[in-house]
Amino acid sequence: MATSVIGYPRIGNLRELKFASEKYFRNEINAEQLTKVAKDIRKYNLDVQTKGGIDYIPSGDFSYYDALLDTAVLLGVVPARYKELGLSELDTYFAMARGYQGPKGDVKAFAMKKWFNTNYHYLVPEVEDDVKIELNAKVPYELYSEALSLGVKTVPVTVGPFTFLKLARFVGSKTKEDIAGSVISAYKDLIAGFAKLGAEWVRFDEPYLVRDLNSEDIAFFEQLYKEILGAKCGVKILLQTYFGDIRDCYKNVISLGFDGIGLDLIEGKKTLSLIKENGFPEDKILFAGVVNGKNIWRNNYGKTLAIVSELRECVSDIVIGTSCSLLHVPCTTRSETKLSSDILKHFAFAEEKIDELSELDKILGSSDPESLPEYKANAELHAITRSGADDAVQKKVAALSDKDFTRLPGFAAREKIQKERFNFPLFPTTTIGSFPQTQEVRAKRSAFRKGEIDTAEYESFIEGKIEECIRLQEEIGLDVLVHGEFERNDMVEYFGECLEGYIFTERAWVLSYGTRCVKPPVVWGDIRRAKPMTVRWSKFTQSLTGKPVKGMLTGPVTILNWSFPREDISLKQSALQIALAIREEVLDLEANGISIIQVDEAALREKLPLRRADWHEDYLDWAIPAFRLVHSGLKPETQLHTHMCYSEFSDIIKEIDDMDADVITFEASRSDLTILDTLKENNFRTEVGPGVYDIHSPRIPSKEEIKDAISKMTKRVPIDKLWVNPDCGLKTRENEETVPSLRNLVAAAVEARNENN
Ligand code: GLN
Ligand code: ZN
Repeated sequence: MATSVIGYPRIGNLRELKFASEKYFRNEINAEQLTKVAKDIRKYNLDVQTKGGIDYIPSGDFSYYDALLDTAVLLGVVPARYKELGLSELDTYFAMARGYQGPKGDVKAFAMKKWFNTNYHYLVPEVEDDVKIELNAKVPYELYSEALSLGVKTVPVTVGPFTFLKLARFVGSKTKEDIAGSVISAYKDLIAGFAKLGAEWVRFDEPYLVRDLNSEDIAFFEQLYKEILGAKCGVKILLQTYFGDIRDCYKNVISLGFDGIGLDLIEGKKTLSLIKENGFPEDKILFAGVVNGKNIWRNNYGKTLAIVSELRECVSDIVIGTSCSLLHVPCTTRSETKLSSDILKHFAFAEEKIDELSELDKILGSSDPESLPEYKANAELHAITRSGADDAVQKKVAALSDKDFTRLPGFAAREKIQKERFNFPLFPTTTIGSFPQTQEVRAKRSAFRKGEIDTAEYESFIEGKIEECIRLQEEIGLDVLVHGEFERNDMVEYFGECLEGYIFTERAWVLSYGTRCVKPPVVWGDIRRAKPMTVRWSKFTQSLTGKPVKGMLTGPVTILNWSFPREDISLKQSALQIALAIREEVLDLEANGISIIQVDEAALREKLPLRRADWHEDYLDWAIPAFRLVHSGLKPETQLHTHMCYSEFSDIIKEIDDMDADVITFEASRSDLTILDTLKENNFRTEVGPGVYDIHSPRIPSKEEIKDAISKMTKRVPIDKLWVNPDCGLKTRENEETVPSLRNLVAAAVEARNENN
C-alpha cells in the first residue's frame, strides 16, 4: 500500500505566509523577502510529508492567494484591465486577487465565492471575449523543480479544465465550449512540459464532478479528457475528486484513460457502493481518500481498515490518502500550549494526519494488523468515553416531540397581535446588530482579555458605548434599536465561550481566503448553556430607551456550521443541543422584558449539501427544526427576527419561510433584488427586510438610491410586510460612513412612508 496527500496547508504553522504577504502589501518587505518565506514553508511542508513516508506528495498545492486564480494565470486568462496596469507578474497576480488602487490605475478584484461546501473562498476567473489562452507554466514547473532539487519527486497538481471552465465567469459572449479547444491544448502542453522535467505523474483536480451533473456536463467532461488523455507523453494522469462522490459520472470516469482516480470515501457517501456495483478497472490505481481532510478528529483505524478491506475485494491497486486538501484543517496540534494532552490526543491536524497515513500504511500492510501497537493505541483512544457527556442534555434532546418545534399560535395570528403591540409605522427601520467596531473597542476588549483592565472598567466602557449607540440611533430616528454588539469578538466565538461543551484553540487557524484565516471553535462534548449569555447587556440597553431594543443571538445552525463538529454524534444531535441552549437564552430574554429577539442564521445556506438529492435528508430536515426549536416557546406578542447573509436562497425559499420567524432580514442589494420575485411567487409569509444598501463597501448610499430600492420592493412585497435595513451588520465599517448612510436610510423610509400612507 502507498500513501498520498492531496494538499498541505500553505499558510505556515504560525501563519508566516499571512504576515509576510500583508507586509508585502504594505510595502514593508520586497518580493524577494516574500518569496523566501514562501519557499521556507514549502520546504517545511515537504519535510513533514517525506518524514511521514508519503509516496505521492503534491507540488503546486502552494499558492500566494488561490488555486483557481493560479489556474487562470496558468492558462493566460488575465483580463486586459490588469495587464494594462503594467505591474510585475506577482503584482498583476495580486491585483486580480485584491484589486489595485495606486499610481498605475484603479481596478477591482475578481469576485470571490465559497469553494464548494467549505469555508474557503476562491477567486472567480473572468474570461473575456478576446482572451488568448496560452500556457504560462513557469510557476508550476519551478515548484516541481524546486522540490526535485530538495530530493523529492512530487506529483504536480493543478485544477483541471472541467472545474476551471465550470467555475469561471464568461464576461463577454463567449462560452466555455468556444475556448475548450485552446484550453485542451494548454493542458496538453502542460503535460508535455512536465514530461520533459521527468515527472512520473500529473494530477488534475476536478471537484466539480461531485456536484449534480447533466448529460451535457458529462459529455463536455469526456470531450476535454478524451483529447487530453490522448497526449500523455508517457506521464501518468491522476484524476482527483473530493467533497463528495461522483455518482453521476462514475462509469464515464472509469472508462477514460486515466491512470489513477482519486475518490472521497469520507464525504462521498456513495463512493463505496459505486465501486462495488460498477467495479474498478484493473489497469488503474484507486486513490482512496480515507483520512478526513476537513475535520480535526483522529482517524479510527478499525473503521478505516474495514473500508479498505471492502475496497480490496474489488480493487487491485489502492493508494490511501486524505479525503481532500489538508488546507481545510489547522497545521499542527504541537502549536497548542494550553489544551491538556487528554484533549489534544483526540485531535489530528495536518501534521498529525500525515502520521496517521504512515501508521495506516503500516497497519494495512500487516497480516495481523490488530496486533500492532499503533492499532492498539488507536483502538484504545476510540474506546475512551470522552469527558463532557451530559445526561440531562441527552435526555432533553431524546424527549423532544413535534410540539417543541411548533410555535403557537401560527404566523398570521401572531402577526396581528404584534402589529397591535408595536404599532410600528409603515416600513419600520432597523439595523442588523453590530455597529462599527472601532480600534478603541478592539483595544479595550483585548486589554480585558489579557487582564490589563478589570471587569468593572471593561463593563462600564461597554455600557458607555451602548449608551452612545442608543442615543445615536434615537437621534437618527430608527424604529427598532440594537445594542451594537461591542462586547463580541465574533458572533460564534462569543456564544461558544458561554456554552459548556465548547473548546477553543490558540493557533488552530484555517485559511478562509487570501491571507485571512479563521479559528473555528471545537464542539467537544454535549452542549449546555452554562450561564445567561446576553441578558445583562440587553436588559441594560432596553433600560436606556423607550423604543424596542432587539436581543441579539446567533442561531444553532450557524454556530455549528462555523465550528469543528463532533463525529461521535450526528450533526442533528449537536444542532438540537445548541438549539436547546439558545432557546433557554431566548426565553430568558423574553422573561427580562425584551420584546424583540433576533436569532442570526448567517451561515444557514453555507452547508447546504452539494447535491440536491441530499438537501433534505442530510441537512434541511434537521437544520430548520433546530431553528424552530429555538423560538417555539415564545409568547405570541414577542417578535422573533432572523438574519441571513446572501440571498441565494431562492431554491430553499419554502424552507426559509418554514423557519417560522416573524421577520427576516437578508442581503439583497448586491443581487439586484431578484430574490423579491421569488418571494412574491411563493407567497412568502414572513415579514422581510431585504437589505437596501451594501455594507461591504465603504460607499455612502444616497437617499434616492435607497428610496429606489424601497420602491422596487413595494412592487413585489405587500407593503405591510416590509422592513427597511442595511444588508448586514455594520461592524466592519467606520462611523464616518455608517452615520450618513443610516440617516439616508431613515430619510428614504420616511418619504416612502408618506407616499404610501
Ligand atoms: N448580528 C450580526 C452583526 O450584525 C450579524 C452578522 C452577520 O450576519 N454575519 O454583526
Ligand atoms: Zn449578514
